[in-house]
Amino acid sequence: MSTTRYEHHIGGAPVAPATGEYFESTNPATTDVNYEAARGNAEDVDKAVRAARQAFDDPRWRDLSQTKRGHLLRKLGDLIGENAEELARMETQDNGKLLREMRGQMAGLPEYYYYYAGLADKIQGDTIPTSDRQVLNYTVREPLGVVGAITPWNSPLTLTTSKLAPALCAGNTMVIKPSEYTSATVLRLAQLVDEAGFPPGTINVVTGFGVEAGQPLVDHPLLAKISFTGSTATGSRIASATAGRFIGSTLELGGKSPNIVFDDADVANAAMGVVAGIFAAAGQTCIAGSRVFAHRSVYDELLQRVSERAKSIVMGDPMDPQTEIGPLAFADQRDKVAGYVDLGRSEGARVLTGGCSSDGGLGGYFYAPTVLVDVNNDMQVVREEIFGPVAAIMPFDTEDEVVALANDTEYGLAAGIWTRNLSRAHRVAARLEAGTIWINTYRAMSPMSPRQGFKNSGVGVEHGQETIKEYTRLKSIWVNTSEDPVADPFVLRS
Ligand code: NAD
Repeated sequence: MSTTRYEHHIGGAPVAPATGEYFESTNPATTDVNYEAARGNAEDVDKAVRAARQAFDDPRWRDLSQTKRGHLLRKLGDLIGENAEELARMETQDNGKLLREMRGQMAGLPEYYYYYAGLADKIQGDTIPTSDRQVLNYTVREPLGVVGAITPWNSPLTLTTSKLAPALCAGNTMVIKPSEYTSATVLRLAQLVDEAGFPPGTINVVTGFGVEAGQPLVDHPLLAKISFTGSTATGSRIASATAGRFIGSTLELGGKSPNIVFDDADVANAAMGVVAGIFAAAGQTCIAGSRVFAHRSVYDELLQRVSERAKSIVMGDPMDPQTEIGPLAFADQRDKVAGYVDLGRSEGARVLTGGCSSDGGLGGYFYAPTVLVDVNNDMQVVREEIFGPVAAIMPFDTEDEVVALANDTEYGLAAGIWTRNLSRAHRVAARLEAGTIWINTYRAMSPMSPRQGFKNSGVGVEHGQETIKEYTRLKSIWVNTSEDPVADPFVLRS
């Protein structure tokens, strides 16, 4: 059987790579080759950015009313809903996440487009009452131009949508460089964007590797903004590259989020929240609650509940509805996780459960849900993002102590608090340095609710109304309404 081959998507059509080269993408559950995708380079990126710029200047897009932009986004949401099953299967084959999880994500995805469809005709400026009553001063919010989006592999369509829906809502055009591990669904999404009726070139996709295709996109002189989701190391390189050119960037980066269980928590609920926080999606989420702090009085009970559930998690084929944890997304990711657990052992950590690789009976890149104890905040395994199913569980004694421990990290993406004390819940939420705080829940998300990484977890907002500011610029317009002659500029006004 011949392997499916994907081209770039530029100007509304498939475009072969300038070099004629393709790279393989494999299914991490089985290691079978899924497809080949175009190996993009600077020449391909240039073509795509020029197509996006042309589309931006084209009256079919530039002069489209905001109401009609909203209609197109709504139509796109409908099309994603109609094709949800196909998209979910493609993502599972690409990154190994559970089919039932991807079905859930795809079922929720249209909501993002409907939300921004509703916002499209509400992007507006203000009139400013300056002290001069003869002057009318008003502002307009205008689109930026060509927005570049670079995304990771862990939730390809959801993370692309977080950028694409608000960027189109605001009237921009885009070039997207998906992760080299998960190109397929973003290419399919580009087809759906065209099918929805967006003019050709509104969305362009160049596939390929970070340095070969991502870097030239960041460096392209016609780019007005870059919106990036990925590791803090890559985000830092992108921030340096864009700073000197004074273009904006939204950076959604890594995390090492604390999940805190107080002595007054419902421990059974908290244990489920801890399990969901770190073992869902095999821990391959930026918001993974990888540092668990349990009050000493409930520490043993929490450990027992979490490790019992971790042991019973069903690992295997992500397509099987009985499976609870699939593989890691590729061999290097599995090796990285295994390397961190070995490092933890050498630092003195004890592996309470898990701590081993497996082929899941399918030949793939699996790693058992792992609980580490006898750990502390100074160990590398507790400080660095592992991006795998590895929980480090630590006891604490006082509220002040746990707030200090939770904040003692370079990251600030999310945090969980488990308590039945209302005052404590709000008090601790106010003191934690993280952009999202969950109280008695974990991993809740909505297109309506803004999220932002603090510290090394990022810059800029995704989701919610605030996002429109990320994809527009503000222009202030001054109009002299007076019929009086314009005064001599060298005569001082009284
Ligand atoms: P990564 O930084 O390795 O890659 C992300 C993307 O950047 C890929 O498309 C890659 O090809 C591209 N890239 C790599 N080097 C580049 C360069 N020099 N110039 C331009 N582009 C380049 O990250 P990853 O391993 O794909 O994803 C995992 C990371 O993403 C984790 O750190 C995770 O926490 C983070 N993440 C963050 C969020 C969030 O919302 N904060 C969400 C999901 C994932």
